[in-house]
Amino acid sequence: MATVLVVVEAQPDGQLKKATLNAITAARQLGDVHAVVLAKDASALAAEVKDYVKVVHAGSGAHLEHYLAENWAPAVADVAKSINAEWVGAAATQQGRDLMPRVAARLNAAMASDIMAVNGATLTRPMWAGAVIAEVTLSTPVKCFSVRTTEFALADKSGGGEVKAFAPAATGQTHAQFVEFKEVKSARPELTEAKIVVSGGRGTKGDFKEIEALADELNAAVGASRAVCDAGWQPNDLQVGQTGKVVAPQLYVAAGISGAIQHLAGMKGSKTIVAINKDAEAPIFQVADYGLVADLFKALPELRAALKAAK
Ligand SMILES: Cc1cc2nc3c(=O)[nH]c(=O)nc-3n(C[C@H](O)[C@H](O)[C@H](O)COP(=O)(O)OP(=O)(O)OC[C@H]3O[C@@H](n4cnc5c(N)ncnc54)[C@H](O)[C@@H]3O)c2cc1C
Repeated sequence: MATVLVVVEAQPDGQLKKATLNAITAARQLGDVHAVVLAKDASALAAEVKDYVKVVHAGSGAHLEHYLAENWAPAVADVAKSINAEWVGAAATQQGRDLMPRVAARLNAAMASDIMAVNGATLTRPMWAGAVIAEVTLSTPVKCFSVRTTEFALADKSGGGEVKAFAPAATGQTHAQFVEFKEVKSARPELTEAKIVVSGGRGTKGDFKEIEALADELNAAVGASRAVCDAGWQPNDLQVGQTGKVVAPQLYVAAGISGAIQHLAGMKGSKTIVAINKDAEAPIFQVADYGLVADLFKALPELRAALKAAK
């Protein structure tokens, strides 16, 4: 059995990020799963993770308090070498996307990003913003991967593994330093974990009142196209798509979004897609299960009123 090392990611409050459990499910298809937890004090998170993997390598150190790829990559690579890991991976979150290429470089490993399926040693991954789905094999002795979390179920507890504590060496002078973490607090569900997402595009002209009102009616997260984020109408962390977040909720409502391929790359895995657009030729209708050719400023309040009435 090959040994697979998965990098564990924590939420800002130190709790286990669910995306790691999706990555563990993918990793189980490649071999025996070890995990590496890095933190100022990794013991609590390691204890939480050990139920899902064979061994947790818990690396504690003051320099690991805040995620910084420069500090994390050497620690992950050292663990991978020490256990002769054939595969090293993480969830393809913002952090995983930042970290894994650096780990791969340190291990002289080939890397497959955003994998969607595992078949033996063949990995399926999107290319060209999802226009092509490629099946790839990696020919280096050590191989790295990041996991498209929406394609894999959450791992179940597979029995208690063991925790091995270690003290990663401080990397010394780094070119990047942690300054501050500014969290955007929201009462709405997190975009990548929400069951329903209501997204707005340039068609909103920056007025998200109706998008937000429908989202609140449905207890949904709010998303946006890149056009909206680039215009500064909504924060970047709401961006859905190739260069934003990948979501696969039960229901995705796209209002005033044309359906550019880069946007579709982030939401076309949604179970049911509802599109509202004034232009009947908009490409979003090609992936929509339900399409409404309408002005969103008229359609969204009507939809909300109908939902209220139905309740
Ligand atoms: C390398 C690269 C990466 C990219 N990554 C992303 C990404 O991650 N996410 C992303 O979204 N984009 C991404 N883009 C940009 C992408 O190509 C599109 O430009 C963007 O998605 C367009 O956003 P939009 O649909 O909101 O705007 P538009 O394409 O301008 O569409 C607006 C739509 O609103 C409709 N509309 C206007 N008024 C109304 C109204 N009152 N009621 C109903 N409908 C109305 C119009 O008919 C139109 O279809 C990327 C591009 C590149 C080159």
